[in-house]
Formats: sequence, C-alpha cells, structure tokens
Amino acid sequence: MSRKIWAALAVAALCGGIASAQDAKSVLQSATRTMGDVNSIQFSGTGHLSQLGQAFAPGTAWPETNLTSYSKTIDYTSKSAKEELTRVEPNPPVKGGGRPFGGEDRQVNLVSGAYAWDQPGSNPVPQVAAADERQLQIWLTPHGFLKAAEENNASATKGPGGITVSFTAGKFKVNGTIDAQNMVAKTTTWLPNPVLGDMLVETTYSSYEDYNGVKFPTTIVQKQGGFATFDLKVTAVKANTGLNLLVPDAVKTATMPQVKVVSEKIADGTWFIAGGSHNSVLVEYPAYLVMIEAPLSEARSLAVIAEAKKLVPKKPIKYLINTHNHFDHAGGVRTYVAEGATVITNEMNIPFYEKAWSASRTLAPDMLAKDPKKPEFVPVKEKYVLNDGGRSLEIYHVDGDTHNVGILMVYLPKEKILVEADDFTPDAPGVPAPSGARPHIFITNLYKDIQKLKLEPTTVAPLHGVVVPFAEVKKEAGVA
Ligand SMILES: [Zn+2]
Repeated sequence: MSRKIWAALAVAALCGGIASAQDAKSVLQSATRTMGDVNSIQFSGTGHLSQLGQAFAPGTAWPETNLTSYSKTIDYTSKSAKEELTRVEPNPPVKGGGRPFGGEDRQVNLVSGAYAWDQPGSNPVPQVAAADERQLQIWLTPHGFLKAAEENNASATKGPGGITVSFTAGKFKVNGTIDAQNMVAKTTTWLPNPVLGDMLVETTYSSYEDYNGVKFPTTIVQKQGGFATFDLKVTAVKANTGLNLLVPDAVKTATMPQVKVVSEKIADGTWFIAGGSHNSVLVEYPAYLVMIEAPLSEARSLAVIAEAKKLVPKKPIKYLINTHNHFDHAGGVRTYVAEGATVITNEMNIPFYEKAWSASRTLAPDMLAKDPKKPEFVPVKEKYVLNDGGRSLEIYHVDGDTHNVGILMVYLPKEKILVEADDFTPDAPGVPAPSGARPHIFITNLYKDIQKLKLEPTTVAPLHGVVVPFAEVKKEAGVA
C-alpha cells in the first residue's frame, strides 16, 4: 500500500474517534440531566488523607492518616469551597514523613476565587501558593467538571470507559470520562511539582447514589504522582446548601512569602544557611564548595546559591548532598544540577530521581528543563567520605530510621558538627514547641546510630530549626 493511502487511512481513523464540539455539548447536557444540576453541594464522610512526597521509601505509597471526619462544601457559582477535616494517625502508625503529629489534626481549608486561606481557629492563615490547586479541585468534582467543561469549550473523543471530555482552564488541562450511565467516572489533570514535574492527578468517582434527585459518588479516590493522596467513603450529600465565604482582609492583602536567607558561620569554612522552614549547610573545600541539602524549590535554591557565592566568591558548588528523597528536602536539587553540581545521595534514590526528573515540565519549567543536562550522581550505601585537600566530611546512612528508609546524615569530624534532617528539630529559644508528640522515636534511633558509629559531635546543625549543642539530642533522646 502506498504511503498516501496509509496517511488517508490514519486520518480517517483519527476522525472516527473524535466527536465534534457539538457532541461535547450534548454529552455534557445529558450528563447534567442525569446527575442533576446544582449550584452548590456539600458532601461528607470518612476516609484517608496521605502525605504527598513523604514516602518511607522512594517510589512507594504516600504515608496515610485516617480521616475521622470530612466535609466539603462547594459553591460553583462563586467559585468557592470550604473543606473541614479531622485526621488522626493510624495505630500502629505507618512509616514515612509528615508524622508524628500526635492527637487530632483539625483543618479548615478555604478558597474563594483567587484567594486561599486556612482557618483552623479564629485567625485566617493566608495560603497564597495553594489558591491555584484549591480552585482546580473544585472543577475536578463531578458537577464542577461538567460546569467547567461547559464554560471552557470542551471537546469530546471516544476514550476508554466512555467519552473523554477535555478542556483547558487557565494553564491546566483537564480530562474527564463520562461513562455509559452518563456519570463522571474519572477526571485527570496535571499539577506542577518541583520533584515530579507535570504531576498526574487522577480522581475516580464510583458507586453513585441518588440524593433527592442529585447523583453523587459514594467512593472518591484521588491519586497524585501515582499514589493515593485522598480517599473518601461518602455518607451524606446535600445539594444547593450555598456557601457564603467572606474573604478576610488579611487574606486579600497577602502576597507570596518572600524567600529569606540568613547565614551564620558555625566553623571555619562552614556556614549554616537558614531563614526559612528548611536549612542548608555550606562547606568550603580548597577548590570548590559542597552544599548539604536543597530543600523546597528552585526559588529557595537560587537564593541559597546566591548566598553561597556571596560568602565564598569564585568557587563552584561541586557537590550537593541530598539527605533523603522527601519532596520538601529534594525540591531544590535540580537547580544544583543545572548549576553543574554532582548529587550525592543514597543509591536507592538515584533511579527514583532519574525517572521523576525525566517527566515533562510544561506547567512550571525550571532551569534544568530549559537547559537540560544529564544529572551526575555519587551513590551512597552505608558510608561515604569526601576527603579532599585536608578537608573531610563523612556521610552515613541512618540505620533503622522510620521517617525515611534511606536517610543520610553528615558528620564533620574535625569540627564535630552533625548535620541531620527530620530526626531532631530543635526550636529557636522562646518559640513554643509544636503541640502534640515530638518525634522521640526518630531521636532515639539517631542517637543509637551515632553511638554505634562512634561519632562524637558537640554541635548539631539541623536541617529544620536552629543550631544547638549536641547535649540537646541527648536530652531529647532521654539519655541525659
Ligand atoms: Zn523527611
């Protein structure tokens, strides 16, 4: 067969699968007729909330907490939503990050148009960075999807499990499946993530029930980055309850928090770089620099790198040491790769990063996406020593850690400084300790490992919190 005929057949096959825009309209209309048209909806139940990016081992499920109560009210007309939830840790607790928090964690999360905030107590806490996602979540719900598809000139194609209806809202592309019963069975979209790039967000809706003429799923499961972040067994649904949210003034005037960097020399050629929720430690070698930890995001990395260049001009950052693969500790690593640094990390993280970093990054392209280069890694198993020009730094795997299976700590033997992440977080003087249980299990294990390895730190430079004498670790571990 000639190439021309093949091409004609391919075009015909393609056209056969694509329903017209007119079809999308009729698909949406009949789905709305079946599911019931609502201006607002409230659904509640129990289920699970899991912590994205806090897996115990790279490439495994996000650690789960139990939702003992959950209720969400959405007003589609005013584009606002209120989510109220209470979660507790399962017993026995699962391994991984974001825990332990002890007792009940009660949250009230709100969005109204472009404004997002939390209001667990009487004072609103602006959440500028969360607004996009909270708004998008409204349009991922079954009725929200139909409304957004109608508003955004959706197209329709025959897809697996029914008709796939697609539209673009702002920078987000959203697909939804309308099944043979005219119900929204699934929605998919992508959110920008510093580790995973364009991260797949899939929500499935099943076991629909009739609530006074409005159909709503009794099972909702959302997966982000391949694993469940949320699941709900719906026990009650009320339509057209309305939602009257007044955006507090403090939320209206809030802006994205500035990246703040404050550095402190803690030994010769050693700086503690703080100023935000996560720290880094800069170590100077004769010919280059080594940075310990690239937390959060490219914005944080750029500010920390700028500080390093100010502290030690003209030396390149040759190595970036990454303690573990939790997203809040790994979100800025790619920026160092773009800067030409080699990443030192646990060998088990390398295939995970290689896969995650090869994903497309159209929603929030970073430096490495704009100017790609192959990341270079130094794998660590149990111990790695970076000895060069009379300077030494030792990297150890923290054995038996239940926060992250591959977590590494760094020890500067001459300076007797220990750098660790998440196992011990000392608060600044005068700052009240967070309510709930402190992670004593992590500290006890960390201390045991330090003893076993015969390390003799006198100072801890933690990757959260402030620099303190090692005696504080002993105190928290209950041995002093
Ligand atoms: Zn962690």
